[in-house]
Amino acid sequence: MKTPLTAEKRSHGSPNRNEHQYNGLINQGATCYLNAVLQCLFMTPKFRETVMSYEIAHGDCGETNLLLQLKKLFEQLSERAATTEGITKSLGIRNVFEQQDAVEYYRKILKTVETHASEVFEGKMSNIMKCGKCGKETRDTNTFISILLSINVGNSETYDVENGLETVLKHSKLEEDDWMYCDSCDCKTETETWSEIDEYPSVLTLHLKRFDFDYIQMRYKKNECCLDVPPSLHNKDNRPKYDLYAVVNHKGGFSGGHYNAIIRSENGIWFYFDDYIVTQTSETSLKNSSLPYMLMYRKAVLSPGSVPHPKSLSHPVKSLPHPVKIPHSMRILLIGPSRAGKSTDTLKM
Ligand SMILES: [Zn+2]
Repeated sequence: MKTPLTAEKRSHGSPNRNEHQYNGLINQGATCYLNAVLQCLFMTPKFRETVMSYEIAHGDCGETNLLLQLKKLFEQLSERAATTEGITKSLGIRNVFEQQDAVEYYRKILKTVETHASEVFEGKMSNIMKCGKCGKETRDTNTFISILLSINVGNSETYDVENGLETVLKHSKLEEDDWMYCDSCDCKTETETWSEIDEYPSVLTLHLKRFDFDYIQMRYKKNECCLDVPPSLHNKDNRPKYDLYAVVNHKGGFSGGHYNAIIRSENGIWFYFDDYIVTQTSETSLKNSSLPYMLMYRKAVLSPGSVPHPKSLSHPVKSLPHPVKIPHSMRILLIGPSRAGKSTDTLKM
């Protein structure tokens, strides 16, 4: 459904409405991939505050300025269900009925906005190659905004996120054909390789490689293994402790599907964001689920085991969005047309 709720409809608030409620995003056709990602970004206090404090340069009409469009969107979203036309135009999305990959657009948005806005998601990772003969190491360091986790289990098995992250950093020996040329030894030598995270970001984003090309069937296939999304990543080696606050879910196969997000508010309540439908949920919806596709963790700032309250909580008036004004009964009624509109969604990588 493309029609936003009118102010009149929204003002008919039930006396029992949830004062912690947030606002939804209108689906333009098949733009759920964008909605899920934008809600995660909006619910990241540091990012939201940077975007909201963005000052428009004189003469900037802003159609192609993504940061300005995000600011307009976040201002709208703080008050009511919002529309994403400004974002799709700015990102050059011409066909809003064609579904795209949520992670791809998460990365695209963060690479397009100015560095000071995206730095909260940025870490530094090195790929290291070590000569097995003389021990010389070659280090290639790059900035990252998300880490891709390969899935090493089948559809019917359970995937372990912490193990997956360790696999990324695991040492391995290259096949002889791939050995590197060592300057010191002046020949190709046995090569050991691994990755190291030199700087951990404030927000660590992990995404699962659920879609893979099957060369036998010559098509993309989705791995629908289940996982218990870990509520925290415990500190290990030089890694700080992280607490989960957002998950982007993907339901359906490669050729069709739907995205939504489950996000924890700054005061610790979990919400389910499904386009313009926003309902309260609990952490248990992240247990044994085959839907998680992208996971977002923020660095724990308090003592181990406590719920982190970012410093931004000391400015609640500025940083917290306004309560939604959609009564619960109306939200249930709206589920019908929203679902019906998704039957033609397609997913292209
Ligand atoms: Zn060497």
